[in-house]
Amino acid sequence: MTARIIDGKTIAAELRTRIATDVTQLKAAHGMTPGLAVVLVGANPASEVYVRNKSKAVTGAGMTPIDRHLPESVSEAELLALIASLNADPTVNGILVQLPLPPQIDGQKVIAAIDPAKDVDGFHPLNVGRLGSGLPALVPCTPLGCVILAKTVLPSLAGLEAVVIGRSNIVGKPVAQLLLAENATVTVAHSRTRDLAAVCRRADVLIAAIGKPEFVRADWIKPGATVIDVGINRVPGEAGKSKIVGDVAYAEASAVAGAITPVPGGVGPMTIACLILNTLRATCAQNGLPAPAI
Ligand code: NDP
Repeated sequence: MTARIIDGKTIAAELRTRIATDVTQLKAAHGMTPGLAVVLVGANPASEVYVRNKSKAVTGAGMTPIDRHLPESVSEAELLALIASLNADPTVNGILVQLPLPPQIDGQKVIAAIDPAKDVDGFHPLNVGRLGSGLPALVPCTPLGCVILAKTVLPSLAGLEAVVIGRSNIVGKPVAQLLLAENATVTVAHSRTRDLAAVCRRADVLIAAIGKPEFVRADWIKPGATVIDVGINRVPGEAGKSKIVGDVAYAEASAVAGAITPVPGGVGPMTIACLILNTLRATCAQNGLPAPAI
């Protein structure tokens, strides 16, 4: 069997086009332009690239990017004061604080200071609790992207066995909650799981969010399963250059899986598309408008 490739790049581009159309309608009907504030502290090169890409996607969707760059030495109090001003600003519909933060700042405190209605990363404890309680919530972008990708090949996840490898607050736990909300039977595996390969072989849908290059092998995969690879790992490539690989051994896994996301070009592009989707959803909710039908 050769797996169908779940082309995250194309699916994300289509999603962004649909969001841009909705934003155009929102402007025409209600005179509103969603605004997304992205707060970057310090000069982490990877974070700077993410923030630049986010700004580009926000502009491309017809939304307003509001970029706030603070020095590495900023105090927690100064950052909290900025969050308070963004919370109070009616032109700001979404707030994202780029992680990681420098050691003098308590990241949990900062996340908890964001207005939950503007928490487009879905990390605020209120949104985490609402997701776990099955209530409408802003949900984390990468997990949302994983479920959207899985549903392009499996329109209904109801009753399917889903195995998530990884239990981080950013990916593993929220993706498990989203799969549960789709009525999948969900197992969350982690570094203490016994016989991980046997657990994975049960999965109709296997989500790998581990952070270990090509960790999931072909013989862990049930023939025909849908495999969503969240991992982004930089490894040595050819001619002294580095390359990015996922948490799944893609070449061999493609011979067993029914459908699989590539890395790069799978989950990665969905994260930013879901960020602008969340910004649109937040804008609609804040203004008492129905959620976009995306
Ligand atoms: P974390 O390091 O926070 O979590 C990794 C998880 O993997 C932990 O729950 C850990 O278990 C589990 N794990 C580690 N080793 C093993 C093992 N040997 N067997 C089973 N489970 C194991 O990572 P994140 O969740 O933040 O990210 C995971 C991957 O996804 C990374 O490669 C990251 O770069 C990528 N990522 C990609 C994004 C995208 O946009 N595509 C966005 C976010 C992340 P335990 O809890 O027991 O330690």
